[in-house]
Amino acid sequence: MNTVLPVAPEYVQHIARYVPGKPTEELARELHLDPATIVKLASNENPRGASPRVLAAIAAAAAEVTRYPDGYGFRLKEALARRLGVDQAQLVLGNGSNDILELATQAFLRPGETTVYSQHAFAVYPLATQARGGRGIEVPARDLGHDLPAMRAAILPDTRVVFVANPNNPTGTFISPPALEAFIDSVPREVLVVLDEAYNEYLEPADRADSVGWIARYPHLAVCRSFSKAYGLAALRIGYGVMHASVADMFNRVRQPFNVNSFAQAAAVAALEDVGYVDESRALNRAGLAQLYSGLAALGVAYVPSHGNFLLVRVGDAQRVNHSLLTQGVIVRPVANYGLPEYLRVSVGLPEENERFLRALEVALAC
Ligand code: PMP
Repeated sequence: MNTVLPVAPEYVQHIARYVPGKPTEELARELHLDPATIVKLASNENPRGASPRVLAAIAAAAAEVTRYPDGYGFRLKEALARRLGVDQAQLVLGNGSNDILELATQAFLRPGETTVYSQHAFAVYPLATQARGGRGIEVPARDLGHDLPAMRAAILPDTRVVFVANPNNPTGTFISPPALEAFIDSVPREVLVVLDEAYNEYLEPADRADSVGWIARYPHLAVCRSFSKAYGLAALRIGYGVMHASVADMFNRVRQPFNVNSFAQAAAVAALEDVGYVDESRALNRAGLAQLYSGLAALGVAYVPSHGNFLLVRVGDAQRVNHSLLTQGVIVRPVANYGLPEYLRVSVGLPEENERFLRALEVALAC
């Protein structure tokens, strides 16, 4: 007899699962390796370990573990508002910046309506769209990056959200600030442009767009940023969005009342104050990218120059090469699910981790 089960809407049944980077412990179990010998360069994490100030803030927050977090996030909003020169009412805190992306579709997309994003762009844009019964319009990439004129042309009367990742994951491509601003200006004001700047802090300050400043001119712009990358707080899950206060109000209505936990809030306040940590992380990343570029050039392996803390490497049979890397205890990210079956994405690690990757890749390509 068939078991009767609750039936999810078809649009939920058809969602392709998000494939995360393989956890170190999992590979250690599978291959009977010592976890300490495994190098994980698969999830664009900060390889440096947490800043001592962040660890102290988390320890202090532990005393209040029985209490719900501040559902408004006052201390963090105060610090962010000061740092960014915006009103607290313009801020939305998220359980990771992933949460902000989800909230955008939750607040603005009805079933059957469309969102627009680029081919090879971050996987959560289609996921967030499908979870609401929306239809994603994927615009073919140009030189692996966003084709902004084509994205503008793809916007339909029922398009509610356009996602732009700058820099983009997994390609590491970057849109110049003037081109980006011209695009935002060209988008009808009733369409929300979600500008995903999860890797913003890895850009040199001179290269960054004044995206938060643009919000005063473009009330249909929502900028989202992450504490998971250069700030080194991936495990805590915290990110934020900056936008027109009326737009933020809609995001805040649909979020969970306590979507950001106390440890994350306390750590983010400490991380924001620790400017040196972010600067050092950027410098380490710059040096790591240079190390990977020259190591790959020496191996005759092509790559896509990156503006993030990761690098798209063209290895040919990526499945085979990835398998070889795993057996050597090096975890990187296959990106066939992004339509890039010949590439692997490697996160920039510590110098010795980058070297381990390069030597393991050399072995993988030789066999
Ligand atoms: N946007 C992009 C482009 C990303 O690569 C990521 C993380 N992989 C995120 C958003 C989400 O990051 P988080 O939820 O950890 O802030």
